[in-house]
Amino acid sequence: MTSSTSRTLLGDRAEYQGGWREVAEGTWAWLQPNGRLGESNAGLVCGGGAGNRGEALLIDTLWDPALTARMLATAPVPAETISVVVNTHGDGDHCWGNQLVAGKRIIAAEGAADDMAEFDPRALAALGRVGSFAAPLLERIPPRARIPGVKPAAAFMGFLRDTGRYSFRGVRLTLPTESFADSLSLDVGGRRVELVKVGPAHTRGDLLVHVPDVGVVFAGDILFSGVTPIMWAGPAENWIAALDRVLAFEPKTVVPGHGPVGEAGAATALRAYWEFVLREGADRHRAGQSALAAAEAMVNGDEFAERGFREWHDAERLGVSLTVLFDKLSGRKSSATLRARGLMAMARLASTSTVADAC
Ligand SMILES: [Zn+2]
Repeated sequence: MTSSTSRTLLGDRAEYQGGWREVAEGTWAWLQPNGRLGESNAGLVCGGGAGNRGEALLIDTLWDPALTARMLATAPVPAETISVVVNTHGDGDHCWGNQLVAGKRIIAAEGAADDMAEFDPRALAALGRVGSFAAPLLERIPPRARIPGVKPAAAFMGFLRDTGRYSFRGVRLTLPTESFADSLSLDVGGRRVELVKVGPAHTRGDLLVHVPDVGVVFAGDILFSGVTPIMWAGPAENWIAALDRVLAFEPKTVVPGHGPVGEAGAATALRAYWEFVLREGADRHRAGQSALAAAEAMVNGDEFAERGFREWHDAERLGVSLTVLFDKLSGRKSSATLRARGLMAMARLASTSTVADAC
């Protein structure tokens, strides 16, 4: 069953069809166009064998219980047949609907549960309300007033306002019941499904889900397609190695954590992005630039446009990724302020006119 809507959760025009889509025999992707903030995908693998549909594996829940309930209600098999749930990592948009599958076996890679436990959904709910209140006020200040910091502040509050489109108030954190270090093989109603830990990269505990009999990989947020990736943990070298793992499976179909279903080419394209960010970022760090100045120069540079990276949504996320990269290059240990500093760099980048035009 598919839900057809021409608008995305953030109110944009949908670029592809959302809802459940069978990507291979007994293998489904839940797609949430356009793959931007909180518009995350999920998956379902049904047990194989003659008519054996009595067992299923759910890959990820969504950012809030209401979205997750809608996904489960329209699933191709009844929710009761889901015996195992896998969270591809610890970001809320992949696990804050876990309470609807509480009591089932919930698996994640090591590190993911730490990420989940660190962030309070109620705090984000409160920030969403602040954004809804403050963003329109800041946006109303005319540019000719030339008050320094207004534009980035408005961009930051606009980001918080977007989170207010989701309902986090009813989220009850439901953590995985087990975790694994390297890889784990599952038997889902007689069908083999492989889990491979590839983090830290996007977050501390990223994993890939490989369904070998149909050549499908659910990549979680190791793959963003048509949307700029965001690196919270790093290092980027691990992310490149993770994409190499995706490619080594020689998959027929790849389901990204955000964006439309595609083939291995999407992993190759993202690999090229990280190669570019690593090379160019290291050069600019060596030259003494700040993460923000480097991100601004890179996003507005010719190579970024020529290689197609400007066509991806939310180019300003490079501000977060470079903040993480520059911290690592400076030998700085990951600090509590890292996320906040990264988000501020992203907001500043979003408020520069060129990036705003591109997004
Ligand atoms: Zn995500």
